[in-house]
Amino acid sequence: MGFFDRLFAKKKKEEECCECADHKEEKKAPAKAAPVKAAPAAAAPVAAAAVSAKKEYVNPMDAFPLLPGAPPGGKIKMAIYWAAGCGGCDVSMLDTDERILTVGDMADIVMWPIATDGKEHDVAILGDKEITVSIINGAVRNTENEHMVKLLRQKSLLVVSYGTCACFGGSPALANLVPGGKDEILDYVYKQVPSMKAFQDMQSAPVLPQTSVMTEDGEVTLPLLYDTVKSLDQVIDIDYSIPGCPPTQESIRQLVAAVADFVYNGVALPPKGTMIGVSSKTLCEECPRKKESRRITKIVEPHEIDVDPELCLMDQGILCLGPATIGGCDAKCTRAAQPCRGCYGPTSIVSEMGASVFTAVASLFPVLDKDPICGEDDIIEIMSSVKDPLGYFYAFTMSKALIRRSVVEKKGGQ
Ligand code: SF4
Ligand code: SF4
Ligand code: SF4
Repeated sequence: MGFFDRLFAKKKKEEECCECADHKEEKKAPAKAAPVKAAPAAAAPVAAAAVSAKKEYVNPMDAFPLLPGAPPGGKIKMAIYWAAGCGGCDVSMLDTDERILTVGDMADIVMWPIATDGKEHDVAILGDKEITVSIINGAVRNTENEHMVKLLRQKSLLVVSYGTCACFGGSPALANLVPGGKDEILDYVYKQVPSMKAFQDMQSAPVLPQTSVMTEDGEVTLPLLYDTVKSLDQVIDIDYSIPGCPPTQESIRQLVAAVADFVYNGVALPPKGTMIGVSSKTLCEECPRKKESRRITKIVEPHEIDVDPELCLMDQGILCLGPATIGGCDAKCTRAAQPCRGCYGPTSIVSEMGASVFTAVASLFPVLDKDPICGEDDIIEIMSSVKDPLGYFYAFTMSKALIRRSVVEKKGGQ
């Protein structure tokens, strides 16, 4: 039974179960988080100040450098490429408001598929390192992604890994959890999705995407999909990274300011490997919510309870990935009463984000020797209320996880 069959079977079972008498009662009375009592501070993320989650908005673009015409040495070349991503990262660059236009004073943009007419050929004819900076968003998922990022690496002095998909695989990398890889995904998308199934039922033979078609004007090809989605640094050497889904205005401002300082004033660039727009602490440390380190006996979604506007979400039974996530976004989600899902990726001391979050959650269960409330069965019951643990704990970082991907075990080995 394939991944999607099992997914559907599980969902069907859940739906059927939700009509049972027990769950009908639960539906009438929405579940409340059931915090118990305070656990020792050692088990908790660092406490944030007990201040209101609301904050006056300051537009980071007010500090965006207004570029003073062409640089002394002439305009530099820039390229922006969109690999396997949703397009949000490309759009985020327009968050620079009208200031994006002044970037045109500093740089000729040789490629930006969403906004300009530059093609692969325009990059291929350039000399090595002739592009000063290439900003690449999205993960590497097919042959075209791989070809383009390798080409841009060859032609660029600096490469910036822009956004969570490029930095950690992001949501496209959740495809690595499908054991049958690209074949199982393509089969599902083109044959099993209800609308496609209805379409295919009307055809005499299945209509499937072809990777090569001969036309009157020559061969037309589509890129080949890979089984495993990779982060950018797993394919090419990178100079800087900017996490975020998508990166914030402040991160973009810092990037443009660093490049502009280098181009106009000869100021040294940040050291290779710098992650732009992050702090050295966890998200919990910049989150204004009050951390009481309550022990939890039930995990809930924000829509199931009246979320306390000042109390830590984890204390309210809402899974929040703040303890394992690097700071820098100014706690955008938790200020809006939504849990952090970890889009900035792990802190420098965390190598395995999912396991780190799992440990942080487990530390809040009431299982102390001197005051045990939870047994093993209770813990299993609490954790089973997390509907999609892998999808939740690795929502943005699957390419970087130690697990790497699901596989189908075959007789005599994989
Ligand atoms: S990081 Fe987020 S916004 Fe950027 S391409 Fe990936 S999914 Fe889209
Ligand atoms: S709400 Fe999340 S980020 Fe804020 S203190 Fe609690 S666990 Fe940390
Ligand atoms: S709170 Fe978490 S999920 Fe939200 S923007 Fe910040 S790092 Fe990303």
